[in-house]
Parts: sequence; structure tokens; C-alpha cells
Amino acid sequence: MAGTLFISDLHLANDRPEIVQLFIKFLDQRASHASQLYILGDLVEYWLGDDDPAEGLEPAFNAMKQCADRGLQIFLMHGNRDFLMGETFARRSGCQLIQDPYIANLNGVPALLMHGDTLCTDDLRYQQLRLMLRNPAWQADFLSKPLAERTEMARALREQSKDETQLKDEAIMDVNPQAVNQAFQQHGVRLMIHGHTHRPDIHSFELDQESVQRIVLGDWYNSGSYLELAPDNSFSLKAFD
Ligand code: MN
Repeated sequence: MAGTLFISDLHLANDRPEIVQLFIKFLDQRASHASQLYILGDLVEYWLGDDDPAEGLEPAFNAMKQCADRGLQIFLMHGNRDFLMGETFARRSGCQLIQDPYIANLNGVPALLMHGDTLCTDDLRYQQLRLMLRNPAWQADFLSKPLAERTEMARALREQSKDETQLKDEAIMDVNPQAVNQAFQQHGVRLMIHGHTHRPDIHSFELDQESVQRIVLGDWYNSGSYLELAPDNSFSLKAFD
């Protein structure tokens, strides 16, 4: 059974060792039978640069590398937490970095793959912060700082984001419907797959007299979650535990 799998928002972290183990089990039991694995952002809770010691996560990266060495193609897109993952990390974990947005050819069907944060245009504060964090000059400056200083800066940013998230309306944290429609139109596709919002679902609707589908991947908090594209081109969202 060679299919294509999609995951996102695992938020691997050493204070959740059970999720790290679950991901390793997923690679072993599910991904090892697939031909392609797309990771659409936020594989880890945070990433300080490729010299990040990523304590406790090494077994997961090794398991990815082993799958890749056995022939699994792993595509890795940045999320809003791990956008500093670079080529060094990609090589060591056997992944190929892909841009956000990315058009994938899924058995002949073009699909727009995104992390999903760029669709949350109602969250103006976040979009402002994103502009700063994704600025190459800011990133170069950040990466030039000692690891201890980066650790502290990242911790402060996470605290700030946690405080603000608690105050934000639920609707603000979801995608903006117009941004979704624009993305479909701009890329001329009828299929979109993204994560980030932690609201797994398959939305089918009409846009410009065509049927389109927006598939949202789930997070890995209470269990694992993945999307499977079977060889007959059918999609299913599945839990994994
Ligand atoms: Mn995210």
C-alpha cells in the first residue's frame, strides 16, 4: 500500500515525550508503508537554528532519517514555530525543505499546500509579528546570537504569544474565508491542504462554479492525526494512537 501522508502541528517537545514516541511509532507503522510524507509545519514546538540541541527529539529525527534511507520521500514545510529549520537539519533528518505555499502534484491533481498561518489574516498582531520573524535580515541577526540568548528570546516570544492567544477571539484564530478563496484563485487549484488552526476537517464547497476542497490537518496533542491519500485518490483524515 503506497500512499501519500500529510501531517502537521506535532509540536514535538521534550516535555511531551509521549508524543515523540507516538511520532516514532507513526513513522514505523504508517509512514514506512507510504511513498511520500508531507510535514506541513510545526513539526517541533520551537527551533532556534540548526545548532539547536533539540533535547529529547533526536530519536524522532533519526527515525525520519531511517525512513528516508529506506525510500520514503519526506517533504518539510516551515510552520510558525520551526521556520528556522535549515538545510543542515533537512539533511540530517532526510527531508527536503519545501516553500510555503507549495504546489504538489498528487497523482496528477495539483494541490496547494500551506502551513495555514498566512490564511489567518484577521489576526493582525500575528501577521505583523510574522513579517518580522520571516525577514531574512532579522533571521540572520537572530542566528548570529549565542544559543543562550536565542533561547531566552524565543521563550519571551512564546510567553507573549500565549498571553495574547488567551485574549483572542476564537474566530480570529481561524482562517479568513476571503483569504482562502484568494489562495484558490491565485494558484488556480481546486484542492488545498493546510494545518495550523488545529481544526481538522474536510471542507467541500463551490467557488467560481467549481467544487473545491480545503482539507485541514489536525494537531498531535491528545493523539496523532494524519491525512492519507490512497492510491485511488480518496482522502481520509485519521487519528493515530
Ligand atoms: Mn502553526
